[in-house]
Order: sequence, then C-alpha cells, then structure tokens
Amino acid sequence: MAQNNPVYSGKFVTFEGIDYSGKSVQSKILYQKLVDHQIDTLLLRDPGATAISERIRDILLDKKNHEMSVWTELLLYEAARAQMVQEAIIPALTAGKVVICDRFYDSTTAYQGYGRQLDLATVSRANLLGACGVTPDLTYIIDLDVNTAIKRRQELNEKADRLEAESPEFQNRVRDGYLSIAKKESHRIFLLKGERSIEKLSQEIYNIFNNRFKLVE
Ligand code: ADP
Repeated sequence: MAQNNPVYSGKFVTFEGIDYSGKSVQSKILYQKLVDHQIDTLLLRDPGATAISERIRDILLDKKNHEMSVWTELLLYEAARAQMVQEAIIPALTAGKVVICDRFYDSTTAYQGYGRQLDLATVSRANLLGACGVTPDLTYIIDLDVNTAIKRRQELNEKADRLEAESPEFQNRVRDGYLSIAKKESHRIFLLKGERSIEKLSQEIYNIFNNRFKLVE
C-alpha cells in the first residue's frame, strides 16, 4: 500500500483488533479528548459512516445471509469503504481534519485474508481499490486473547453478528493475522495490549497520538 497521504493536510487514524477488543470505546475516548482540545475531528466506523455504507454493513452483518460467498463478502467491505472514503474521509482530510476510523483495510486483511484464508496479494489489491489509495497515518491494533473477547461479549449478553458468530479458530486466525500485519508495518502500526484498563490504554493512545502529530500544546 502507498505510504502516507502527502496531498492531505489532515491526519488519518485507525483502530483495529478483534471484536470486543475495545476499539469502539478507545476511538470515542480519543475523539472526545481531541474535541476537548478544539481539534477538528471526525469519528467514523468501517463498514458504515455514510447512508450507502451503512446499508451495505447491514447486509454484511446479517446472520440470515449465511449463503454469502467469501468473495462477495470481500467486495462488499471494499464497496462500503470506497463510499466512505469518497464521501467522508477525503473531504475531511482535505479540510485538515483528524479522521478517526473504527476499522479500515487492515480489518479486511485480517478477516478475509487471514480469517477466511483468501490469497493475501489479492486481498491487498482489493484493499487498494476500496481505500481509493488512502492510507492511515497511524493505526492502533488492540490485541486481545480470543477467550477474553468472548467473555466480554457474554457479560454484555449481546447477540453475535455474522462475523462474530464465527468459530474461536477463525477468531484466532484473525488475531494472529493482526499480529503479522503489525510486524510488517511497524512505522504506522502500534500494537497495544488490550487486557489493560480502559484508562491506561486511552492514556497510551493519547500519548502516541501527541508524539506522532504534535497537534496538542
Ligand atoms: P470493539 O469495538 O472492539 O468491539 P468495544 O469498545 O465495544 O469493543 O468494547 C467491548 C466491551 O468490552 C465493552 O463492554 C467495553 O466496555 C469492554 N471493554 C473495552 N475495553 C476494555 C478494557 N480495557 N478492559 C475491560 N473491558 C473493556
């Protein structure tokens, strides 16, 4: 993938990890901290964030769609992403905003590449299309043991969506996939231990952000 987005004045930050690793909590905390410092920030989730992408998300996560081919799944994720990139991310980055996204193309590499075991080079090419060449400037991967993630879901008593309902073996392949991705792109990706408290993690995330971008006085 291309390195950085030199034409954009904004910063693009993504959160990655298996379900229940804490991405959504941490992306909201970082968003709030930046807003509190008067930094113009947009918080998005992938797939989603635009009307069209949210509709594609519903198709992707609906457990009734058990006959969905893995290639359709891959392309729907890319289609939802392309719409979000064109409609929301590029305009915001061009306007100099910080864009925080809960998941981006590393999720596709981890889930469809490592989890579904599709050819990684093909997934990478699909990712280039879906992301329209846009690359995160900074990515946090929150690493969590699959059993801990399952316990968190049980505590919340939430129903699993189509991807969450996959076997622990699948979730472990995804987790290992994320660890491989982190090793390959250490300049962009910070690997965080997800078992620590929400407070400790959010402080580390904020420190990394400040060290990288120096936007906060
Ligand atoms: P994700 O977006 O990765 O699926 P969430 O941010 O929605 O995960 O968190 C899933 C659940 O785990 C929530 O109930 C959240 O409060 C809890 N949680 C998140 N981070 C932590 C943490 N560091 N320690 C304990 N529980 C956590």
